[in-house]
Amino acid sequence: INSKLPNIETSIFAKMSKMAAEHNALNLSQGFPNFPSDPALNALVDQAMSDGYNQYAPMPGDFGLRMEISKKIENLHNHFYNPETEITITAGATQAIFTIIAATINKDDEVIIFTPAYDCYVPTVELFGGKIVPIQLIPPFYNVDWQEVDDKTSSKTKMIIINSPHNPSGSHFSEEDMLQLQDLAEKNDLLVLSDEVYEHIIFDGNIHQSASKFEALATRSFVTASFGKTFHNTGWKMGYCVAPENLMKEFQKVHQFVVFCVNHPIQKALATYLKDENHYLKLSDFYQQKRDFFLHLMRGSNFKIIPSKGTYFQMLDFSEISNDNDIAFAERLTKEHKIATIPTSVFNEGRKDFKQIRVCFAKTDETLAEAAQILKQL
Ligand code: PMP
Ligand code: GLN
Repeated sequence: INSKLPNIETSIFAKMSKMAAEHNALNLSQGFPNFPSDPALNALVDQAMSDGYNQYAPMPGDFGLRMEISKKIENLHNHFYNPETEITITAGATQAIFTIIAATINKDDEVIIFTPAYDCYVPTVELFGGKIVPIQLIPPFYNVDWQEVDDKTSSKTKMIIINSPHNPSGSHFSEEDMLQLQDLAEKNDLLVLSDEVYEHIIFDGNIHQSASKFEALATRSFVTASFGKTFHNTGWKMGYCVAPENLMKEFQKVHQFVVFCVNHPIQKALATYLKDENHYLKLSDFYQQKRDFFLHLMRGSNFKIIPSKGTYFQMLDFSEISNDNDIAFAERLTKEHKIATIPTSVFNEGRKDFKQIRVCFAKTDETLAEAAQILKQL
């Protein structure tokens, strides 16, 4: 057939996890925890099934869960989303992102993304005929040059996609970044897709700056989040999207024909589990300990490391270890050293000048110790 995505290959996450399994390598590539989701939460899912929640959920999602999300955002960011009209439960953030783009992007609309960028943005925009305008985040700290964003914004620009805390760099947007974004979005009448799947994983006392926190920005933003990232069960594929009513109405027109609704018993369980804010407010400390444990073990290694400031990813610069490009290097690590990581050029339009791989530290201390032992020998 005439491919709609001629230049898109199988996702790097599928590739590296497969390669890790084939070579019996430690898998620090695809981002998922190797420890269990809370048995108390699992029990709530069992309970919901026993209680008979085994048929379709309401199209926008279980109302109790939507109410808990609304309360959570109001408490954390002081913005009220109406659970009746402004919240939809999705099959992970991936489905939310697809649906947002499907509902808003027309042929030749320009969409600004910041590179390195999470891998689903580009193909999804292209599927709907949109044009990607990439803007490079500036290493080593992956900051935004807002003047460049201003320069690259035109009457054709329809949307800006942001992701903070940022996968893969582990950087995050400051309040000042969000205010710059708000000004720019207002001035140019832009939509914003704010990918906040790592909203509860931010380190060193920093505070997550949600698009929902900034009043004028919230009126033009779709915000998406992922329960899989927050509650250690990426395989459940549960997430949500919040947006003002006029935007959410368009979102739901598409959502109802993509999935109609998502897993009902898990929504019931999450509605109860979310009532205890400790279940998400302690996550930053939990992952900061993992980051620090891993970085401590990596002291004296030949990788150049700037500590991650959020997400459960750490970038490792291997320029003093090998002249390979990052894809060759990651392949060699998997096959010869039995450790799988993610080459980051795949998020960066294939640029080979970034000698960086990404490791996921959402792993048991035992796995992190094994990984550091291998990596330190390089
Ligand atoms: N956005 C980013 C930045 C991610 O890292 C991921 C991976 N979890 C997603 C979106 C997709 O989230 P989900 O697994 O909930 O679909
Ligand atoms: N978000 C995860 C990562 O960045 C992977 C999700 C997926 O496999 N699509 O590694």
